[in-house]
Amino acid sequence: MSSEPVVALSPKTWDEIKTTTCYMCACRCGIKVYLKDGTVTYIDGNRDHPVNKGVICGKGAAGIKQHYSPGRLSKPLIRVGERGSGEFREIEWEEALQTATSWLGNVRKTDPKKLAFFTGRDQSQGLTGWWATQFGTPNYAAHGGFCSVNMAAAGLYTFGGSFWEFGEPDWKHTKYFLLFGVAEDHGSNPIKAGLGKLKKRGAKFVSVNPIKTGYSAIADEWVGVRPGTDGLFVGAIIHELLNAGQIDGDYLNRYTNSPWLVIDNKGAADHGLFARDENGGTLVWDAHKKAPVTTSDHDAARALMGRFTLPDGRKVATSFQLIAERYLAPENAPDAVTERCGVPADTIRRLAAELAHVAFKETVTLDVPWTDFTGRRHEKMIGRPVAMHAMRGISAHANGFQTCRAIHLLQIMLGTIDTPGGFRYKAPFPRPIPPHIKPTGKPDQIWPNEPLPGPPLGFVTGPEDLLLAADGTPQRIDKAYSWDAPIAAHGMMHMVITNAAKRDPYGIDVLFMYMANMSWNSAMNIPDTLKYLTAKDEKTGDYIIPKIIYSDAYASEMVHYADLILPDTTYLERWDCISLLDRPISEADGPADSIRQPVVEPERDVRPFQTVLLDIGARLKLPGMTTPEGTARYPGGYPDYIVNHERAPGVGPLAGFRGVDGTQSGKGAPNPNQLQAYIDNGCHWFYELPDEHKYFKHVNKGYLEWATGFGLIGKPEPIIHQLYCEPLQKFRLAAEGHGAIQPPDGHRARIIEAFDPIPFWYPPFEGDLVDEVAFPMHAVTQRPMAMYHAWGSQNSWLRQILGRNWLYIAKERAHTLGIEDEDWVTVTSHHGQIKGQAKLMNGVNPDTVWTWNAIGKRSGTWGLKKDAPEAKQGFLLNHLISELLPEREGGYRFSNSDPVTGQAAWYDLRVRVEKAVDQSNISSPQFPTLKNLGVGQ
Ligand code: SF4
Repeated sequence: MSSEPVVALSPKTWDEIKTTTCYMCACRCGIKVYLKDGTVTYIDGNRDHPVNKGVICGKGAAGIKQHYSPGRLSKPLIRVGERGSGEFREIEWEEALQTATSWLGNVRKTDPKKLAFFTGRDQSQGLTGWWATQFGTPNYAAHGGFCSVNMAAAGLYTFGGSFWEFGEPDWKHTKYFLLFGVAEDHGSNPIKAGLGKLKKRGAKFVSVNPIKTGYSAIADEWVGVRPGTDGLFVGAIIHELLNAGQIDGDYLNRYTNSPWLVIDNKGAADHGLFARDENGGTLVWDAHKKAPVTTSDHDAARALMGRFTLPDGRKVATSFQLIAERYLAPENAPDAVTERCGVPADTIRRLAAELAHVAFKETVTLDVPWTDFTGRRHEKMIGRPVAMHAMRGISAHANGFQTCRAIHLLQIMLGTIDTPGGFRYKAPFPRPIPPHIKPTGKPDQIWPNEPLPGPPLGFVTGPEDLLLAADGTPQRIDKAYSWDAPIAAHGMMHMVITNAAKRDPYGIDVLFMYMANMSWNSAMNIPDTLKYLTAKDEKTGDYIIPKIIYSDAYASEMVHYADLILPDTTYLERWDCISLLDRPISEADGPADSIRQPVVEPERDVRPFQTVLLDIGARLKLPGMTTPEGTARYPGGYPDYIVNHERAPGVGPLAGFRGVDGTQSGKGAPNPNQLQAYIDNGCHWFYELPDEHKYFKHVNKGYLEWATGFGLIGKPEPIIHQLYCEPLQKFRLAAEGHGAIQPPDGHRARIIEAFDPIPFWYPPFEGDLVDEVAFPMHAVTQRPMAMYHAWGSQNSWLRQILGRNWLYIAKERAHTLGIEDEDWVTVTSHHGQIKGQAKLMNGVNPDTVWTWNAIGKRSGTWGLKKDAPEAKQGFLLNHLISELLPEREGGYRFSNSDPVTGQAAWYDLRVRVEKAVDQSNISSPQFPTLKNLGVGQ
C-alpha cells in the first residue's frame, strides 16, 4: 500500500488579526491584516466595513509588498553633496527636527508666506491645512490642483456636492448610468461593486471615454469621444432634451435657481446679476400676479422661462430662459458638434432619447414620506433613475470646470440629483453653494509669528475675495486665487517649483513637501523642473529655492532633490483618521469615518509624518499646537490629536464615539477611549440615516435639521442648485471694467470668456495655441486598475502585472503611420520629444494615443535595480507637457491650467507620433542613474 505524502493544504499562517484601513488607493477600504510572529502574512477585506463589505482588490492584497518594499527609507537624511547627487548623511531625529524647526522658525518670524507647504495624495489634509493656518502661510495645498479641482469646484459651485468620493450613483435603483472620463483606478472597489449591481439588474451602463479599458470595457455602450470635447457632447444632449421638452420643470422650479430673475442690462455694472429686492433677496416672476416676488414666496406661480420688465424698468430674464437660449442655439445641435467630438450625431440623439425615456417613463417610487424645506409633505419619494459620474478625463482639461458644470446641468435638468436612482450626496455634502469658507492670505492677514485668521483654501464669491498684493499681483506662490486662476480652490501645486525658481511673484525660503513626487511623475515638464530645483543664484551661488524639506516613506525621485529628509512610516505602521473634516468615506445612506491603527511597529528609524508635523509645530510654538504654558498640546502625537483636537466646540477629526462615555456622534466632548472604540468596531464608524432623510437631502427639511445639529452645515437652509453661477458673472463684470478690483488688461479677455455663468464649451488651450496639423493627435494617460499611487510600480507583486508601460494607438491609425505592433515610436509635442514602444489596439479614439501614467521610473530610485524595465523601457508623457502655455498677447505665459480653477491641463497635450529611427530597446529620455537610498532587498 503506497503512502500518500502529507501536505498541509491550509497551513495556519497567522497568529493575530488586526483591522485597519487600506491606503493602496483612495477608496480606503476596511482591511484585516493577518500577522504571524509580528510579520504581515496576508491582507483581506473587512466584511463589516461600509466601503468594501469584505471585498479586497489586487492592490489592497499587495499591500504586504508595499510594507516590505526595498524602496523604504530608513533614517533621517541631510544633504551633503549637490542636489541630485544622492550625497546624504544619516542623522538622528533630534538633529532632523531641530534643523527643520530652525529653518521654519526663521521664515515664520520674518515672512511666513516664504514657506511653501504642499502635500501629495496624503489623507491628512484636515491636519496639514490647519498646520499651515497655524504657521501663518497661505502657501499651502495638496495635490487636488493637478488632479480633480475642476471636478470639486464645478460641483460645489453648482449643486453643493461633487463627483468622486463626495457622492455616488444610487447603485440600488439607477437604471441608466453615464460615466465620463473615469479610469479604473478611481473609485476602485466601490465602482466595481456598483457596476456589478447594475449588470445584475440589467441597467444600462454607458462609458464616455477616449479609451476602452477597465470600466469602459464592460460598458454596454462605449462612446469614444475625442479628449477635451465632452462639453460639446453633453451640450448636444442638452440641446436635444430641450428641443423635445424632456426636462423636469417641477424639479427645476422648486430646487434650482432656474426661475430666478437675471438682470439684462448690457454694459452696466448689474448686468448678469440676480435681480434683488430691498432686503437683498433674489426674485422670481409670479405668472399669476405678473410681477416679481421674492424667491422665498413658495406659493408663487413661478415662471420657469420668460423675459420680463421689473417695476423699475430694468429688463430681466429667468436663469433658465438664458440657459435654454444658449443650448437651443444651432451650434449645440448634434450635427454641429459631431465632427469635432468624434461621436456620430445619431448616437447623440439616441442617447438623449434614452436618457429622457428612463428619467421620465421609468421613474422609481419609494414608499417613504418626506417633507421639503417649505414644509410641504410628499407621500412618496419619486426618482428619475439616471445617474452620472465623472473624473479626471473631464477634470484635467483647460475647459474642465465648465464641462463638468455642463454635466451637472444635464443631471439637474433631468431632475436626478439625490433622488432615488440618481446621483446621491455623501456626508458632509450637500453644503451651501459654494461652501461658506473664504481663503485667507491677503496682505493684512499675514504677520510674522502669527497664524492666519482662517484656512488658506476656501471658496471665493467675487473679486473682493481674491488674494492679491496691493499692486494686484498674486499673494500666493502658485498664483492661486489671483487673476490667473480666481477659483483655485485646491491651489496649484504644479506651479510652485517653477514660480519659486523664477521668483515670480516672489522667492521663497523653504519648500516643504510631503508625499509628492514633484521631480518626476507629478511634474509637468520634468527637465525644466530638475533645472529649477537645482538652479543657483548667480551672485550668491546659493540655491534659488534655498531649503527643501521632504517627507516620504519611499526613496522616490524627489528625495534626491531635497535637503532634509524626514522618513515616513508605511500605512501599516501608523495612526490615521479618515475624517469628515477632510476626505471622508461616507456612504450615501449616512456619514462614516475610520482610522488606521499601527498593526506593526517600524523596525527602521522612521516616524509618522503627522506626528512629526505636530512635533515641529510644538517646537515652533504654533498656537494650536502649544499650551498656554508653552508645552506641546499633543505630546502623544497624531493619535493624541485625533482624539483631543476640536475644530469647533465638540467637533473633532472623528465623528463617532464622542462624548466622555463614547455615546455621542457628530458633536461631543473628546472621548479618551475613542480610538479603542473604533478598534473594537473594526476601525470604522457609520451612522445610517433614517429612510426619510436618505434622499432629496439638499431640500429635505428633516435631513437639513439633522445635519445642522450634527455639525455638517451651519443652518437648516435649502441648498438651491445654482445652474446660473452668479459669482462667475461678478468676475466677468470686473474684467469688463466694473468695480474697484479689476484684472490687469492682459487678463481681461480670458476672464470675460471663461467666466460665463452658464456652462459652455471652448477648445482646450493647447490645441488652440499650437499647430494642430503639426501635432494632430491627443495624448493622455490612465492609471491602471492594479496601481494607484506612483509607488505601485515598486511593488513586487504589482510589477508582475505591469512592469513597464506602452504607447497605445488605434490599429488603423498606426497602419497609416507605418507603425507596427511593438515598434519604437517617437512622440513629439511643441515642448519636447520622448521615445516609447507602441502597442496597437482597438477601442481607442483614432486621434488619441495613451499610456499608463507614472509607471516609468528614473533609474536607481524606489529600490528598483538600475536596469529595471520601469526605468529602461518605461516612459512618461510628463516630459512633453509644459507647465506654461505658449506666450500670448503681451508676452505673458499663463500656466497650463483651467483659467477658472487653475486645474493642471494634463490632458490637453497635442502630439505627433512617428516610427522611431532608433529601434533600440530603450526609452528616452534617460537621465543619469540616481543612488539607491532604499533599505534594499
Ligand atoms: S480598492 Fe483601494 S482601498 Fe480598497 S482594497 Fe483596493 S487598493 Fe485598497
